[in-house]
Amino acid sequence: MSEELKPCPFCNRTDNLRVLSEGQINAVFGVVCYHCGCQFHCRADSEADAKIAFNTRPIEDALRAEIDQLKHMYATQYGELAAVNKINGELKHQIANLQQRISFLEHPAVGVEG
Ligand SMILES: [Zn+2]
Repeated sequence: MSEELKPCPFCNRTDNLRVLSEGQINAVFGVVCYHCGCQFHCRADSEADAKIAFNTRPIEDALRAEIDQLKHMYATQYGELAAVNKINGELKHQIANLQQRISFLEHPAVGVEG
């Protein structure tokens, strides 16, 4: 099974990641980022295991899930806030019109000779 590598945890790039091995017998595998120089060494027995180890990031995965959840909450609340602001604007306009009518009813003949 060929697993894609997650982006480098330091520079977030994927274009210069390579899985390397050291030694012919009992080879040790690791992942190197040739962009930022990050080296990830693990006790994997194969290239596939090295990729799995490199991609296993429970804290990062939990933080990304929390960020996605917060973005969703923000978008939802921002949408609700925009709807409330729109209603608020419409109500202010109606209030201004009613105040104008009240003023006219209280002083109907001001400025009018008849
Ligand atoms: Zn990097």
